[in-house]
Amino acid sequence: MSDTKIEWCDKTWNPVVGCSHTESPGCQNCYAEKLARRLGWGGLRKEGPTRDAYRAVIDKTTGKWNGKCDLNEPAIYALLHWRKPKRIFISSMGDFLHPRVAYHWITRILAGIRCCPQHTFILLTKRPENLSVLTRWPREFGFAEEYPNLWIGVSCSNQADADRWIPPLLEFPAAKHIVSFEPLLGEIDATPYLDRLNWVIVGGETGMGARRMWESWVAKIMVDCRKARVPVFFKHWGTWYHPKNWSPPPVFLPSPSVFLPSPSTYMPREFPKDSA
Ligand code: SF4
Repeated sequence: MSDTKIEWCDKTWNPVVGCSHTESPGCQNCYAEKLARRLGWGGLRKEGPTRDAYRAVIDKTTGKWNGKCDLNEPAIYALLHWRKPKRIFISSMGDFLHPRVAYHWITRILAGIRCCPQHTFILLTKRPENLSVLTRWPREFGFAEEYPNLWIGVSCSNQADADRWIPPLLEFPAAKHIVSFEPLLGEIDATPYLDRLNWVIVGGETGMGARRMWESWVAKIMVDCRKARVPVFFKHWGTWYHPKNWSPPPVFLPSPSVFLPSPSTYMPREFPKDSA
């Protein structure tokens, strides 16, 4: 478990690492893949099981995901030492529902979540078709009753992602349903789904080669969420909004992370109720 700069959570927890690209354009500049390469092969991590886990999932020559996933054993035990309530992002360094994640890893992770009811766990995936693996383990009650502290969501970058991934998410009996529109790469009409969503996150792309997130795309989601009374968290405009990219700047942005181009329009950073 580690501290994080991700604004909507307190911690990231990576008991499994590794992934492969999906058909979504959101995978093109995968931040986790670049960081995993540095953690595994770039000397960012000291020798040890965590560095080995990253090495196991990144091809050293290309620096890309090799399609495998690995259990990051130290993270499992680290969770049990975290006492104060936190909002924890599970698997920021891969996709927890990747088909190469072994079932017996999942059962251990679910056990960890049950042992820590003081935390809120947030699982984002681009593979909601695999959500049923979470319900295989015998339960006494319904899934949401057994895991009230596990919120599940999908990451969507455009309308095709949204239409493909939000419906299976909504069919799954999670305690809360979330959609992260990050990196947002096109206009999205989420209104058919908003009445069943508990939280929406919006953010631009970061890192080398970041693509622009247009203001009108953000404004549409903000207005639609307001109308549907869905809490929305605006994360940031992304790397594209570095001042050197404004030529000329459409308006003065004293703090790009909290303002729309209209300086009078504050961007919300809301959370659902019952959050840790
Ligand atoms: S699903 Fe997520 S972690 Fe996996 S390649 Fe795509 S963006 Fe990266």
